[in-house]
Amino acid sequence: MNILVLNCGSSSIKSALFSDESNVLSVTIERIGFSDSIITYKIPTQNVEEKFVQQVPNHKTGIEIILTSILPKTEIKKIDGIGHRVAHGGERFTTAVIVDEYVKQEIEKCIPLAPLHNPHNLAGIVACETLLPEIKNVAVFDTSFHQTMPMKAALFPIPYSLYEKYKIRRYGFHGTSHQYLVYRAAEILKTKPEKLKLITCHLGNGASIAAIKYAKSIDTTMGFTPTAGIMMGTRSGDIDPGVVTFLQSAEGLSPQETNLLFNNRSGLLGVSGVSSDMRTIIDLMNRGDKKAELAFEMYCYITKKYISQYIGVLNYPDAIIFSAGVGENSPLVREHILQDMDKLGIIIDKKLNNMLISKDGIISKKESRIKVLVIKTNEELMIAKITKKLLSSEAGNL
Ligand code: ADP
Repeated sequence: MNILVLNCGSSSIKSALFSDESNVLSVTIERIGFSDSIITYKIPTQNVEEKFVQQVPNHKTGIEIILTSILPKTEIKKIDGIGHRVAHGGERFTTAVIVDEYVKQEIEKCIPLAPLHNPHNLAGIVACETLLPEIKNVAVFDTSFHQTMPMKAALFPIPYSLYEKYKIRRYGFHGTSHQYLVYRAAEILKTKPEKLKLITCHLGNGASIAAIKYAKSIDTTMGFTPTAGIMMGTRSGDIDPGVVTFLQSAEGLSPQETNLLFNNRSGLLGVSGVSSDMRTIIDLMNRGDKKAELAFEMYCYITKKYISQYIGVLNYPDAIIFSAGVGENSPLVREHILQDMDKLGIIIDKKLNNMLISKDGIISKKESRIKVLVIKTNEELMIAKITKKLLSSEAGNL
């Protein structure tokens, strides 16, 4: 089966084509809506990687370029299904679904919950329906994997009526990545996902941790929005709500300015005053920059605190998984997060930890009660797998 995966952002499209789960094409279109949009594509099987500049006024044109100009360069003649990353499925969608009119209406209803993402995700679906009317579209939601959370983990301790009125609750994000990590961890540990208790740490520019019991998410750090949870590149993560109201009044901040402060000016960037990029933070720290050192220490400490909570929530996980930009590439961050946790049963093997950069494997010592793994996340492959499974079972049901 040939599955096209699409991730439509506000000004970008990331897409990947899988043929029987092997990646045969990746295309990224940036600066959509500008005269100098940048199109990059890779055909791994032919060792081809090219970049060119061409005006792409909207998502429909972008997808059209992928289908008519880039796809023919591969050996793939036909697409069997399209998997779309959709940021928010609210409480309605607990799994991925084949798109129909009802699904599109529901994605639209979730726009207030994800105003920066859902409109573009929906635009991508509509464009595919127009360009390839005979091909089925599948919506894979970032939120749906976490819909298994019990209400005691999902609700905030605020008036229940606000949940009823506005659906204010923890939704969690990065669901497809956490789901992939569960699947891949089971492969590495040679067992079934349903037999594992895991703490999955997706540490990218945006970052979240999930507690996963027997393949189901039972808690996660991101909340009603992706601002919640651990410290990130530019996001604060969890914060005393009193700080928010104090600053709104002291600095005269509007809701939009408040949003910008906690989403774009906080985290590693806010504390260091220089950068949201962990590589720069480590570099500055090594050159004696005290604020960068503080940002690094805070990042590792806060992450350690949430991992410790989830060790309790899961009553001892089998493994802790590190993934995404920081988690996959920084042995230093991994070591600092898990240092002094030997009494909790975690012992890192420094040599293995330093060896595993952007590669999958185990980095804990044999005697470590909780195993520690590094896994390179692959959200596109997970979306392709989910899409394939859904379309195959539908075909089987005909
Ligand atoms: P996102 O997809 O959320 O934009 P990524 O998962 O690509 O983010 O992660 C990006 C982050 O990964 C960068 O901001 C950078 O801080 C971090 N990163 C990448 N390589 C390294 C490295 N070698 N050491 C430390 N951090 C790294």
